[in-house]
Parts: sequence; structure tokens; C-alpha cells
Amino acid sequence: MILLMKFVRVALAVPLMRFFDYILPEQMQPVIGGRVLVPFGRQKRVAIVVEFAQETDIPKEQLKPVLNVLDDAGLFNDDMWNLLKWGAGYYQFSLGDVLFSALPVKLRNGESVVEKNKILWKLTALGEQAMVSGELKRAKKQLEALTELTKNPLEKGNNEFSAAIWSQLKEKRFVEEVTQPLQIIPWQIRLGGKEIMRAEQRLTLNKQQALALSRLLFHQGFAAWLLDGVTGSGKTEIYLQYIEEILKQDKQVLVLVPEISLTPQTVQRFQARFNVDIDVIHSNMNDSQRLLVWQRARTGQSAIVIGTRSALFTQFKRLGLIVIDEEHDNSFKQQDGGWRYHARDLAIVYAKQLDIPIVLGSATPSLESLNNVKNRKFKHIVLSHRAGAGSGLKHEVIDLKRQRIQHGLSDTLLRKMASHLEKGNQVMLFLNRRGFAPVMLCHECGWIATCTQCDKPYTYHQHQRVMKCHHCEIQKPVPMQCGACGSTHLVTTGIGTEQLEFVLQQQFPQYEVTRLDRDSTVRKGALENHLSAIKQGKSRILIGTQILAKGHHFPDVTLVALVNVDSALFSLDFRAEERLAQLYVQVSGRAGRAEKQGEVVLQTHYPDHPLLQQLLHDGYHAFANSALQLRRQMGLPPFSAQALFRAQSKSSEEAEQLLQQIASYFYDWKNRQNMPDLQLLGPMPAPFSKKAGRFRWQLLLQHPSKSVLQHALGQFNFENEVKSSQARWILDVDPQDLS
Ligand code: ADP
Ligand code: ZN
Ligand code: ZN
Repeated sequence: MILLMKFVRVALAVPLMRFFDYILPEQMQPVIGGRVLVPFGRQKRVAIVVEFAQETDIPKEQLKPVLNVLDDAGLFNDDMWNLLKWGAGYYQFSLGDVLFSALPVKLRNGESVVEKNKILWKLTALGEQAMVSGELKRAKKQLEALTELTKNPLEKGNNEFSAAIWSQLKEKRFVEEVTQPLQIIPWQIRLGGKEIMRAEQRLTLNKQQALALSRLLFHQGFAAWLLDGVTGSGKTEIYLQYIEEILKQDKQVLVLVPEISLTPQTVQRFQARFNVDIDVIHSNMNDSQRLLVWQRARTGQSAIVIGTRSALFTQFKRLGLIVIDEEHDNSFKQQDGGWRYHARDLAIVYAKQLDIPIVLGSATPSLESLNNVKNRKFKHIVLSHRAGAGSGLKHEVIDLKRQRIQHGLSDTLLRKMASHLEKGNQVMLFLNRRGFAPVMLCHECGWIATCTQCDKPYTYHQHQRVMKCHHCEIQKPVPMQCGACGSTHLVTTGIGTEQLEFVLQQQFPQYEVTRLDRDSTVRKGALENHLSAIKQGKSRILIGTQILAKGHHFPDVTLVALVNVDSALFSLDFRAEERLAQLYVQVSGRAGRAEKQGEVVLQTHYPDHPLLQQLLHDGYHAFANSALQLRRQMGLPPFSAQALFRAQSKSSEEAEQLLQQIASYFYDWKNRQNMPDLQLLGPMPAPFSKKAGRFRWQLLLQHPSKSVLQHALGQFNFENEVKSSQARWILDVDPQDLS
């Protein structure tokens, strides 16, 4: 009997770099890439089958049998399986966690893949009568629901009306449930005889665009294209027309964007342009909707999928093109949790594996991508002028040292604002600091109200009358007295967006002010309301953090100001300058998009800073070239590869000791392998050395060659090399954020 026993090796969503073996009962037939239910400790867990085995090293008495088989087909196609395996290896993360994180939540939890039949609400004859008879006059929501049904059927449990509304309507027999059998209709069939693209919407490309498109179309198979075009140069138009050609070849398209809620216009433009099925993956979707999109793409029902970072793990029946818009954007890198992948970098690997093209678009390409152009890894397409209307921009630096400044605003800036506003235009102010003031201190002794969990000053929020820590999000009442000397003379220093709003309302009482930041947009629908007030021209002065910088098109904005950029000029993070340059260019792109002359103003105490000088006089690409030269001289990425071990613990020593063990391992390895170029920095306290009550430490590994660093990391076995510790650690390969 024992001889017949077979084993199955599974991946579990646990942070261990190994698989788990289980006995496979004879009658069960799982598949590779499919799910099984297994006992794990005292729990039952969903697991993914990785391979079958005739033998196992686990002692017989410890082996347990598989409890149940959940899928009769694998959940991953070969391409996705290979990508995820590659991604687990490259980022040195558990394959189990990686596989699970690539699945919709419902599948992680063991729910069935087979789409259930849809149940729809249908209007009855009684319901139709009720709509006209006026008997629902007092039941507005019910009437609204019925009215919706006259336009299109609504799915049960998956629409904007509550279950209570439907049960009331059903009771009165105004609606009934009808079952719609599951149908898988490929997008091509759904399109019927219609054109893929609504022809009347197609723009005639200008020369640069036409040349760009023909280069794209002429190429077959894999290529990574950097579509490097100034804001408004018509990159999106090129995506749209390229996508049309790919769809004509019966293939599907994946579009990754940084943040959908901030750029609804991009999605609207796609939807307005095509007659095909477009699925959007956004953060407001529930788990059922996500599962549905996952299935639609996999079965070829969607032609185009637009989504953020994790949409990369959507599987397609036949993917023909990947587009990454704003490729320089940081949000493509997973910054928290365990698996810190970079969606752009993985997407390139994926495209290569599929032998399909990938287009990376940006007005401010990352230095990594520009370097890849130099290395001939990427092909370069440059669009140097605006496609639509838009006149030139005037740039000006205001030296804060020589001016009277009120609440962070110089007299010059206030004068300029007045002049643009008087002409009926809008002005936009950027400040990357929400709240009223970043510091509250005692005027008598200098005590600063500080978050004890993070050792950083609280930000004063006047609107809500609270102190907030922006690192751990803890909130405290505003202190009445100094915590050290008891004085009641507390003052704030520094300026946040709330303060700007307050001051500008006083300076310009005749104009409406809108503030856009994380605080003013938490309520559902608040962002949309603000944006529409701006669009309609009701609001004339716009204040915002970075969220205002992304993609919005406000034709009447003629003056854009960066209120203060000094912290970025002297940051410890070697990427801070690149980010400032990108922000500056993106922000400038908000001005003068229409026929009107635009003006960009930057306030700083350091107007002679070489970065600012170069950016303003010679533009982003000149800046990028010198920044790349500097990185080369200093051996920083992209001229070296980095990996960052981070540890945190309530005890600072514990976190340090953990990293010390890892460091000694790598010092040893370096000597044994004779790898003098492997640099180790640390363990050292992280720049944010304490957060939410935990001490944070770092150990940075750097080597000129990516593959050598990969090799070193690949040989490291945490479980063997490091004594168990209370400290938690993670590894961040190609870290983007060194704080
Ligand atoms: P980007 O994506 O580079 O910012 P868009 O594709 O959004 O540029 O184009 C900017 C503006 O120019 C849009 O209003 C767009 O409709 C217009 N536009 C783009 N291409 C053309 C063209 N060939 N002819 C006329 N207008 C164009
Ligand atoms: Zn004091
Ligand atoms: Zn805190």
C-alpha cells in the first residue's frame, strides 16, 4: 500500500521560502496551479499545487493528507506562472505569497472559479404601472430603482441600490428575479459588425505622431518603447491608435496607470473612443467585481483592461500589448507589504516572455529608463511639441530671501495671482504638506509637540482641531499647554495646505478656493465634487498636494506655483532631485494647456541651486543627463543594483542585531567568493528611525552588477543564517524609497 502513496507539493501564503508536502489520497486528482485544501497546524488552509512527488523527506508520521481539491484546472496560464516564479526569485520572496497575491481575494479564500449564473432584477407590469400612478411618490429610492430598470437590468446584490429597497419592491411585486445563464462571449463577437474605433473621434496625427505610430506598427514581436513626449504632445492619442491595430489582430491590451481615481479622464477617453469591452480595475471595486474582471480577461471577454499596479496579474486569453502610462511614477513599485515588486520592471519581463511590445510613456522618463535607452535596451520615441492647442510657458524663480513673505507666500506671487485672477483665469498652488502647520512649539522653552510613537512632530490640523502624526496616523487633542514648562504660549511654524487655504480666502475673498489633499478628499465623492467645481470655473484658486499634479486637464489654469521646494533640494535620498524635476515638469504641464499663455513660478531660498538652474534653462532632459552622469560617478542606480534589508522591532537592539547577523553573513560570503565590489552599508538606523512605536534599521547591499547581487541574495538562506528574533525583517530589491 505504502508504495502507491503519492505526494503533492504545495505553496501556501506564508512567508517561508519553501513548499509543503501532503499525502495525496488515491481518489483525488488535483492539478498543478490549482487549489487544494490542506490542514496546516490547527487550521485548514487553501494551497496551490506546485508539483507532484513520489518521495518526500518529511517523516511519515508528520505527513497529513490533502482534505479537498478545489479546482479541476490550473488558475494560472503558463505565462503568468512563469512570470510569478521569476518575480518570486528576483525579489527573493516566497512563491506561495506571490501566487496568492496575484489572485483575486475570493480565490485566495477558496471560493469557486466557475462564475455563477447572474441573477437580474426585472421590472414587472405592476411595477410599470406603479411608476406612472404616482404611488411611489414618497419612496424616492424605490422609484429611482425602477427607473434604472427601464434603462438596463441590474444585477442582484451588485448594484447601487440596497437589498432593503429590492425586497420592498419584490414584496409589492414591482420587480422579479430572472436568472441569466452564464455566457462567455469573446469581445470580438460582442462587437458584432461595429468598428473597433469610433471613427469620428479619431484625430489626424501630426508628423511626429504619425512617424511614431508607424515605427510602432512596423515592429514585430517584443520591444520596449520609451514614448518620451512632453505633456500634451499626444502620447495618449498614439496609445489609442496603436491599440486599435492590436485589437484588429484579435489580441487584447493591458494598460497600467498610476492612479485611476485621480485620472478618470484617461479612462473616459478610452471608453469614448472604442466600441469594444473595456474593463477597469480600480480601488473602489468589491471582491466580486474584481473576480469578474479577472474571469472576463482570462476568457477573452474584455478587449482592454485598464488598471493600477496589481492589474499586471490579470491573465489574458491573448495579450498583444502592454502600455504603461507615466512610467516614472513611483506608485508602480509596491512600497509596503511583503512582495515589493516593480510593476513596470515585471511588465517588461512579461512582455519579453510573451514576445509582445510594451510602450512606456512619460513626459519625464525615469533615469532608469533613459539609461536603458542609452544601453539600447529600450527604443526611443521622442515627441517634442504639443499636439493640441497650448502656447508657451514662462518660467520664473522667486528668491524667498529677498522678499516679504506672508504665510509662505511672497509679495511677487500674490501680485501675480491677483493679475491672473483679474483676467478671469484660475491659479494653482502646490505644497506637499497637508494640515495647517507641520510643527507646534512652545514659545517660551522650545518644546515641540511630538508623537512618542515616531519621535516626529505632530502636524496641526486646524479644520478638525486635532494634532495628527503623518507617520503613524495617530490623532491627539490640540495641547493647551507646553508639555515641558507648562506655558500656554504655543505657536505653530511652517505651512501646510490648510493654512494656504485660510490665508488665500482672506487675501482674495471675492474668489472661491478649493483645497485638494488627502484630508479634503476622504469622503466618498468629495474628489469628484472638487474637480467639477474647478472644471466649471466656480472655484478659481486651487491648492493641492501632489494629487493635483497628475493628469488633470484644467484649460483655464494659467498660473501654477510651487510654494516651496527647498526640502527636496537637500534631501538625503539620492532620488529626491529626480522626483522634484519630475514634479516640476508635471506641474508645469497643468498651466497653459489651452490657448492662453501660461506661467510657472517656483519659490525657493536657493534660486542658484544647479538643479533648478539647469531644469529651468535647459529642460528635463538636460537635467536627466547630468543627473545620470552624477549617478555614474557615484556608482548609484542605475549604475549599480541595490537591495535593502529592513528590520523593525519594539527593541532597537533587537532590530540592529538581526541585521548584524545578516551583515556578517554577507561579509563572509564576499570574502569567500572574493567579491570586493559588494558593498555593505549598515546596519544603520533608517532615516525614519522610529515609526508607530517600532525602531527601524536598515542594511543596504550594493553591487555594480545586478546579476552578482542576485546571485548573492539567492544563496542567502535566512532560516539557516539568522537566529530567531522578535524583530521583523523584509528584503526590498531595487528599493525606491530609502526612508
Ligand atoms: P499626452 O498624453 O502626451 O499628454 P494627449 O494625447 O492627451 O497628450 O494630447 C493632448 C491634447 O492634444 C488633447 O487634448 C488631444 O485631444 C490633443 N491632440 C493630440 N493629438 C492631436 C492631433 N493629432 N491633432 C489634434 N489634437 C491632438
Ligand atoms: Zn515650554
Ligand atoms: Zn506617529
